[in-house]
Amino acid sequence: KLIIALTIGVLAVTTSVTAALATSTKTSASADICVLLPDPKSSVRWETQDRPALVAAFKKAGVSYVISNADGDAQKQRSQADQCLANGAKVVILVSLDAGSSIAIEKAAASAGAKVIEYDRQVIGGNAAIYISFDGRAVGVLQGKGVVAGLKANGMYGKKPVVAELNGGQTDNNSYLFKGGYDSILKPLYKNGTFVKGPDQFVPGWDNQKAGTIFEQMLVKTNNKIDAVAAANDGLANAVVVALKARKLKPIPLSGQDATPQGVQNIISGWQTMTVWKDTRKLATASANAAVALAKGQKPKTTGTVKNGSKTLPAYIIPPQAITKANYKILFTAKYLKRGDVCVGE
Ligand code: BGC
Repeated sequence: KLIIALTIGVLAVTTSVTAALATSTKTSASADICVLLPDPKSSVRWETQDRPALVAAFKKAGVSYVISNADGDAQKQRSQADQCLANGAKVVILVSLDAGSSIAIEKAAASAGAKVIEYDRQVIGGNAAIYISFDGRAVGVLQGKGVVAGLKANGMYGKKPVVAELNGGQTDNNSYLFKGGYDSILKPLYKNGTFVKGPDQFVPGWDNQKAGTIFEQMLVKTNNKIDAVAAANDGLANAVVVALKARKLKPIPLSGQDATPQGVQNIISGWQTMTVWKDTRKLATASANAAVALAKGQKPKTTGTVKNGSKTLPAYIIPPQAITKANYKILFTAKYLKRGDVCVGE
């Protein structure tokens, strides 16, 4: 038995060494453009939408690239950036995990002579060449309007419904843009007594599991008296759906974001009111084009600027679109999702 155990042990060590070598060779490949994705779980979009769209855009542009995912670990993202810069990357496309680590990455890039594109998430206080994203405040406005429409549709609008808010992660600047958007719709209604303001919490790292625990506590605290939820994305919305189902409660007006298969499925089954579609292919294409321009020392295309502390930053901003039961099929015709991605029926 001992011999068998030892052999297995040696085998395990050999495999892990081989695996380590394999990953190190892979990441040490030099590339002109490096993409630093944030994590695979806070939304499925990063791996299922952004990555393939970026690959397609880079291939079309004929540039070399490396795409890594930091698994939500800011230190890991820093070393992925260092690795890229050491290998001579000319442009880093960064999806920030938090301002502190992103500013450090941007400084390292500047000293290596590389340009940074802030992709989807702005780094307040950073010094990137350009910010490329969707209009985050507009996303939040669509979510707030979705919640209001849901309360009108189910007859609760005039009955002082309690509205809860489940916001994104505190270290993601987008979370404040989304919240600013839905609060611009909800706050006046809280103020004039149409709605009652319920629990309002941020979800660390957009972690879907933590969202479940947080929402569960909201239900306990309010004795299940939550009539609608402004949830910042489809993952957080699904945590709400799971908790409601576990308590045998009925569907309530609920917003989301990202047009994920799960979100669309919740819309079809009546558990989610809406989602916000951000066509990540547009984001990926704009970013790949900007990266190519920056690598050549040219100015990338912009749609305007955004504030960055006391300064302004060139920006390329794409409008988002609301998706409900009435129009979700456009996701299939636009080939953003496949019909088969969304299982119909519960
Ligand atoms: C993105 C959302 C995403 C969330 C969690 C935000 O910064 O804009 O699309 O759902 O992060 O990953």
